[in-house]
This record gives sequence, C-alpha cells and structure tokens, in this order.
Amino acid sequence: MRLIILGAPGSGKGTACAVLKDTYGLAHISTGDIFRENIKNGTPLGQEAKTYIDAGALVPDSVTIRMVEDRLTKDDCSKGFILDGFPRTIAQAEALDEILSKKDEAIDAVISVVTDDELIMDRVTTRRVCPSCGASYNVKYMPPKVEGKCDACGADIIQRSDDTAETVQKRLDTYYENTKPLIDFYAGRGLIVEGNNNVDPDQCISEIKSGLEARGLN
Ligand code: AMP
Repeated sequence: MRLIILGAPGSGKGTACAVLKDTYGLAHISTGDIFRENIKNGTPLGQEAKTYIDAGALVPDSVTIRMVEDRLTKDDCSKGFILDGFPRTIAQAEALDEILSKKDEAIDAVISVVTDDELIMDRVTTRRVCPSCGASYNVKYMPPKVEGKCDACGADIIQRSDDTAETVQKRLDTYYENTKPLIDFYAGRGLIVEGNNNVDPDQCISEIKSGLEARGLN
C-alpha cells in the first residue's frame, strides 16, 4: 500500500500515521521528522533546512525531493509506505510521480485529514514532543503521566521551535497557498480518502480505514 497523508500542520496527521503504520505494516516517511533529525545531528542538510523551518516557510523543492527519492530506496519501503508532509507543492507531487513511475509504482490513495484552523492553533501551541524518542503529547489534552517527562523514555519533553502561535499562523498560510491545491490535484485522479479530525482522532482513523477498505486496500 502506497499512501500520502495531507492535512494542515497540526491537523492530526502524525497521530493517524502512527496507527496506519502499525495497522498496515507501512514505512512512515515524515519529511519534517527527517529534517528535525538532520538539525539535531548538525548535518549540512539540517543547517540549510533550519532557516526555512524556523520561518514557517518551505524548504526548497530541490533539497526536499532529493531527500525523499533517497528515502524511498530504503528496504522498509518495499512493503509499502505512508508519506507524511510530502508532497507539499505541485512540483513535489509531479516529481513523486516521476520517481515512482521509474519503478513502475504509483500512489494507491491520498488521505486528507480535515481539521478547523481554530482547533489547530489551540492543539499545536499546546503540543509537546519528546526529542529523544519522538513521542507526542499535549499539555491540555494528552499530558504525560509525570509533568515534563516522556512516558516512553523519561526524557524531558519540549515545545518544537516552530510550534509558537506566530509560526503556526505562517505555516497555515503556507499550507493554504502551496499544499491545499494538492487536494484538487489528487481528487482529479479519484484518490482522496477523507478523515474528519474535528471531534475525535479515533473517529477520524476509522473513517480513513473504511475509505481505504472501500478501495480494496487492507
Ligand atoms: P512538519 O513536521 O511536516 O510540520 O514539517 C515541519 C517543517 O519542515 C515545515 O514547516 C517545513 O518548513 C519543512 N518541511 C517538511 N516537509 C516539507 C516539504 N515536503 N517541503 C518543504 N518543506 C518541508
């Protein structure tokens, strides 16, 4: 199964991916996570990406596309994958078509997670993450058992530097300008499966699973 998940930053894509990855045995490819890993390790790619990420802007297509092309050659992708945070522009979507068609592959479905902007602003500015194992928390809605500590590994949890109100607004603007058009791009191919995440993530995930099943994907 080869999937893309689309949705505004903070719409709940990451949570849905964690479930879908386990349910269907997919490689979870998050470009945001790959950039953050490179920033943490101080690589040249990380240094280049950081200035864009901190400004709520997109990392240039040339850098991002090369990085994804390389990631898709890894063994774990042979069982299927879910692309999270990529493509984010029409140029990236067209590049992805080319990368896959060279291998006689294609995307089976594109999941669209729908969440209202006010909810996103509230959820993202209260989000915390574990820099060590990647687990995600929310100080209001899903706090860790011990304040400030990761349940899974005990590390101090942090707020992502781009999860401040000002940067979230910029990321939403960037999403509407560059990424929202991808919904129409893939709807034109009849690939969209929608999940509404305004109320409950479990409900959203079950809508997504039903949509995939209706396409014979399970
Ligand atoms: P995310 O974790 O998906 O919200 O990504 C965090 C940041 O990484 C974004 O705000 C962008 O600056 C950058 N980024 C992630 N994926 C892409 C992409 N496909 N194209 C360009 N920039 C990206």
